[in-house]
Amino acid sequence: MIAFWAAMAGLFGLAIGSFLNVVIYRVPAGLSIVHPPSACPKCGHEIRNRHNVPVLAWLVLRGRCYDCKAPISARYPAVEAVTGLLFAAVTARLLHDDRAWLIPAYLYLVALGVVAAMIAIDGERLPNSIVSSSYAAVYALLIVDAAIDHAWWGLGRAAIATVGLAVLGLLVAKERLSPDARELAQIVAAPLAFLSWWLPAYAAALAVVGGLAVRRLPAATCIAAAAIVATCLPVP
Ligand SMILES: [Zn+2]
Repeated sequence: MIAFWAAMAGLFGLAIGSFLNVVIYRVPAGLSIVHPPSACPKCGHEIRNRHNVPVLAWLVLRGRCYDCKAPISARYPAVEAVTGLLFAAVTARLLHDDRAWLIPAYLYLVALGVVAAMIAIDGERLPNSIVSSSYAAVYALLIVDAAIDHAWWGLGRAAIATVGLAVLGLLVAKERLSPDARELAQIVAAPLAFLSWWLPAYAAALAVVGGLAVRRLPAATCIAAAAIVATCLPVP
C-alpha cells in the first residue's frame, strides 16, 4: 500500500514540478504564473497541451521546440523528475512512520526547496511573496497535523526552530547570509523540527558541509538541498 501511494505522489510530483518550473522562471521576474500560457522563448509558439506532459514530452521532442527546433534546457525535465522522485520518497517515509497527515507540509517543504534552490542558482533573491505565503502555508499545514495527531509538542519544536534560527541569524549570520536565505532556513526548519530535533540538526550540518565543499553554490541552494535531504533521513 505504501508503494502505491508513493507512486501516486510521484506522479503528482511530476505535475507539480512542471508548475515549479513556471514559478522559478516567472515569480522572480515579477510575471504572472497563470497568464500568458507557456510559450517557446525563441519562436513564441504556445506550448501544446500534449507537449506539456512532464519529462516524457521533453524526451519525445528530444529536447527541442516542436515548432522551431530550438533546444529546450534539460533543467526543465530535471526539475520535474527530481520533484516527482522526492514527492514519492517523502510520502513513503511518512507513511512508514505512520504520519500521513504530515505529508502535505513535507511536500510543501520539498516544493519550496526546489524553487528556492533553482532561484538562487539563477542569481535571484527568493521573492517576498514566496517567503510570506510559505510561512502561512507551512504553519497552517503543521497546525492541522498537530490537531489531528495531537502533536502539539511537535508544533512547539517547529516554532522554537523558526524563532531560534531568526535570533541566531541576526546574531551570527547577518553578515554571511542574505535575508532571504535566513528566512528560507526559518521556514524549512519548521516541518523538520516538527518530526524530530534530529532532522533540522542533520540539515544544518549538511548545509554547512555543502557550503564549505562547493564554495560556488549559493547559500540558499545549500540550505534548500540540505533540508530536502533531511526529509528522507531516519530519526534515531
Ligand atoms: Zn520554438
